[in-house]
Amino acid sequence: MRKITIVGGGQAGLQLGIGLLGKGHQVTVVSNRTGAEIAAGKVLSSQSMYDMALGCERELGLSFWDDSCPPIEGAHVRVGKPEAGVMLDFRSRMSANGQSVDQRVKIPRWMDEFERRGGTLVIADAGIAEVEGYAETSDLVILATGKGELGKMFTRDDARCHFDRPQRTIALTYVHGMKPREDFTALNINLHPGIGELVHFPALTHSGPCDIINLEAICDGPMDRWAEVRTPEQHLAMTKALIEEYFPWDAPRFRDIRLTDDNGILVGRVTPTVRKGVGTLPSGRPVLGMADVMILNDPMTGQGSNNASKGANLYLNAIEARGDAAFDKAWMTDLTEAYWDYAQWSARFTNCMLVPPPPHVLKLLGTCQQHAGLAHRFADAFNDPKSLSTWFYDPADAERAIETCMAPA
Ligand SMILES: Cc1cc2nc3c(=O)[nH]c(=O)nc-3n(C[C@H](O)[C@H](O)[C@H](O)COP(=O)(O)OP(=O)(O)OC[C@H]3O[C@@H](n4cnc5c(N)ncnc54)[C@H](O)[C@@H]3O)c2cc1C
Repeated sequence: MRKITIVGGGQAGLQLGIGLLGKGHQVTVVSNRTGAEIAAGKVLSSQSMYDMALGCERELGLSFWDDSCPPIEGAHVRVGKPEAGVMLDFRSRMSANGQSVDQRVKIPRWMDEFERRGGTLVIADAGIAEVEGYAETSDLVILATGKGELGKMFTRDDARCHFDRPQRTIALTYVHGMKPREDFTALNINLHPGIGELVHFPALTHSGPCDIINLEAICDGPMDRWAEVRTPEQHLAMTKALIEEYFPWDAPRFRDIRLTDDNGILVGRVTPTVRKGVGTLPSGRPVLGMADVMILNDPMTGQGSNNASKGANLYLNAIEARGDAAFDKAWMTDLTEAYWDYAQWSARFTNCMLVPPPPHVLKLLGTCQQHAGLAHRFADAFNDPKSLSTWFYDPADAERAIETCMAPA
């Protein structure tokens, strides 16, 4: 049995903590908020998750909402401008359904589950001094503090970062009253070149099934009007106004929406950042970073929670495989490189969607419109962004993928 302390009780920290309890380890999770505070607080994310990541949760017996959470059955991509209409439009079911459970519902439930399975939950806002203390008394300390300040003790990995500032102002809105789609439930992605994106999908919140709207405005562009919003009512009104103005083809579905609750809103910006996954405390002891601490993506493609879950699974297996050996810096470095080896594809996918697409990507998306097989491959990339690596980024690979799907059967 190893003594492991995880600072940060979000998707990554709690999932890993619960997994480690199952392997017989002594686990402490440190959270700066109680479950009750999280449940009563503001929304934190839109947390759409797909099959591989959900599978990691299911393996640990943590999928408490499979029957109550509405599924995300496919993806629907549209590119348009109000003056030109929809210029590109394709949709496909995914191979397996996704789902989004409000973290205000999920995390408190997982905290209870963690304690029920024998974990120690400490409520404290840990700083460097506290982490030093945990490092002194634990075999391994992992920082899973998400976007929290503590993560800044990990050095920015300049060679792996593509941006040094936020690319979007993100406005999240949880609503009831959305007009349902007629075909299948979907991750709806609307792109308005030069302005931003409207992404929305079904989810589960405190008050039951809902929809989550994620408006991604190019920073300081015409859709970035959130500075003038003061109240939840104004937030809802702004959401509806921006959709009518910039995404009119999708607007009829939103005409009767109402907020799920006054805390069902969030406005913020994220600088997409990759950090080295191993940090060193003033004492010289190493600490291991995970999930958002290491790779922080813009939420546009909804990859962060998926990464957190897949990463928790990777870390769980690596800790198990380590047996009684020391969790030294070399082991940590190898593990974080293994994480990067996979999660880099989520960063690449996201970063690629944040900038104007090169001609071969435009051609690929155009081909998705005519070929169900290619559209299906694209829809499945939200589950496994690495799957894009063989056909999406390199113009020659893209040409081959197009030729293959054009070839007579
Ligand atoms: C607007 C928005 C929309 C998003 N939509 C999606 C999506 O659709 N799909 C998707 O996959 N991802 C999405 N994400 C990203 C996703 O929410 C995160 O990537 C994911 O939650 C990261 O998990 P984590 O465990 O690393 O961090 P978190 O979930 O942030 O958890 C970190 C925890 O650590 C705690 N903490 C921080 N500092 C300390 C401290 N010093 N001491 C103790 N505790 C501390 C925090 O309070 C928090 O509870 C979105 C993010 C945003 C901002």
